[in-house]
Amino acid sequence: MTETAERLAAVQARIRAAEAQYRRAAGSVTLLAVSKTKPVEAIRDAMAAGQSAFGENYVQEARDKQDALGADTTAEWHFIGPLQSNKTKLVAPHFDWVHSVEREKIARRLSEQRPDGLPPLNVCLQVNVSGEDSKSGVAPDHVPALADAVAALPRLRLRGLMCIPAPAEGFDAQRAPFRALRELLESLQRSGLELDTLSMGMSGDLEAAVAEGSTMVRVGTDIFGPRDYPATT
Ligand SMILES: *Cc1c(COP(=O)(O)O)cnc(C)c1O
Repeated sequence: MTETAERLAAVQARIRAAEAQYRRAAGSVTLLAVSKTKPVEAIRDAMAAGQSAFGENYVQEARDKQDALGADTTAEWHFIGPLQSNKTKLVAPHFDWVHSVEREKIARRLSEQRPDGLPPLNVCLQVNVSGEDSKSGVAPDHVPALADAVAALPRLRLRGLMCIPAPAEGFDAQRAPFRALRELLESLQRSGLELDTLSMGMSGDLEAAVAEGSTMVRVGTDIFGPRDYPATT
């Protein structure tokens, strides 16, 4: 077993344990393996161990890895980093999901640039639940209007919400922003939007996120080891 396969199994075990502990249906939380800054070999090891969904933050780095892996791989690609408008034309055809939509302009470009031959691009809105000036994401107050606008775009499929909370000490403090994101998703669902995704929880706080209803945890460090340079914004 490779080291990546061992770490992956340990993370899967944590997810299953958290599902059981917080009365979530078994298998209701999926794992996105965040492979940013890691080599293609690490992705191959994870794929050999059964992992199929990968998250990347940098468009060109992701494109290089996709090319190196070849077209016949069954990997599902999720773009999770900040997205500038000059990069949307590379993201729209080459990813299955974008988790970091925070502006209508970006969403409109992704919809326009999504090739007709592909299914609609799955998107989440990134929400600034912690309210810090430095973090990206749309303010919670602005989410309903942005959600309505994005849901109306023909080549996108709005799936839900994503957040990267400020680091917090202790389980209850970790849960608070995840609860806020869940409540926001529930209010959008009550307004009539069909949403099924809460993209929340990382290496250090996935249990708190599962406790609050996460459907997709994004884990990098605990699968692939520490990164040489930080890349969470
Ligand atoms: C890097 C990153 C992750 C993974 O973080 P880890 O702490 O390494 O698990 C998750 N989500 C986003 C948006 C990231 O940029």
